[in-house]
Amino acid sequence: MSKYWSPLTASLVPYVPGEQPKDKTYIKLNTNENPYPPSPKVIEAIKAAAGDDLRLYPDPTCESLIQAAADYYKLPASRVFAGNGSDEILAFAFAAFFDPAKTILYPDITYSFYKVYAKLYGLQSELIPLDESFTIHPADYARENGGVILPNPNAPTAKLMSLDAIRIVLDANPNQAVIIDEAYIDFGGESAVSLIAEYPNLLVVQTLSKSRSLAGLRVGFAFGSEELIEGLNRIKNSFNSYTIDRLALAGAVAAFEDDAYFRETTEKVIRTRDRVAGELTALGFTVTDSKTNFVFASYPDKPASSIFQQLRDKGVLVRYFAQPRIEEYLRISIGTDEEMDAFLQAVKEIVGK
Ligand code: PMP
Repeated sequence: MSKYWSPLTASLVPYVPGEQPKDKTYIKLNTNENPYPPSPKVIEAIKAAAGDDLRLYPDPTCESLIQAAADYYKLPASRVFAGNGSDEILAFAFAAFFDPAKTILYPDITYSFYKVYAKLYGLQSELIPLDESFTIHPADYARENGGVILPNPNAPTAKLMSLDAIRIVLDANPNQAVIIDEAYIDFGGESAVSLIAEYPNLLVVQTLSKSRSLAGLRVGFAFGSEELIEGLNRIKNSFNSYTIDRLALAGAVAAFEDDAYFRETTEKVIRTRDRVAGELTALGFTVTDSKTNFVFASYPDKPASSIFQQLRDKGVLVRYFAQPRIEEYLRISIGTDEEMDAFLQAVKEIVGK
């Protein structure tokens, strides 16, 4: 341990991102990226912005981007926040809304960054167990707390909650912020953005990383009441008001302008996902009902850690979590049809079918 570290730094357990190995070319199904490139209009806009004036700071208010996102959802711009990836917005939201004097609530099996942010901001967490089928029960969130965060759909389980279930959580928590992390919502879910006018305590967080194929650009959004958006701006401007750079701003605005491309690629991912889920089931896997761009699957006759390693040896990367209750599952991001055929072929060889 370094003598220069604060006690906080010494006690942090940082998030471990999915591996990005360079030793050979893998079929990469481990970090839930989109297999299709971003819209050509996004690339054109970024090139134009690069030739524009990088000497200048970007617009700290992100006005053009916030307006594009607001128009997309038919909301006033005052209800929209933009950040450098939804991870950054989640970090801001934990700082802005969660009460260190109380305990915040989130599922025991969920996006592992929540635990990291809770630690970073000195928050106590109560991890609410998912049931046997990995379902989130909204009534479990009707207890004393200092804030609630739920991903919808959940990761890595891939399962979706209904808006009625989210309403139950919101109704039970009128005095706490409830954050719904919708990183994967475009792959078959119904967004809770439609509820923000009704619930001033609701913050919905989204990203361009998954359904818009822009993980490399780092752009995310939050939608909520004006007081929540103002809270996020306070935190943002206390760190770095120029969060989103000029290239990312230009590319992200263009992403909203090409809805047809977004719909087409999203539908392709959904079709491939449903096919892969069906084929894995036919091979004897248990597969959760996915509304995301990945599937969560376990095989009864072989440890997931061994399937993971054998796939890796065959050049296919998936995600394995050595974590109680899900150590028998693999999370497999949906690639192109060709990539998924190669994955399925490798799986058949491994399970001997
Ligand atoms: N929330 C969830 C549930 C995720 O899986 C991810 C992606 N790892 C994120 C948020 C962050 O996405 P990004 O920062 O790329 O917007």
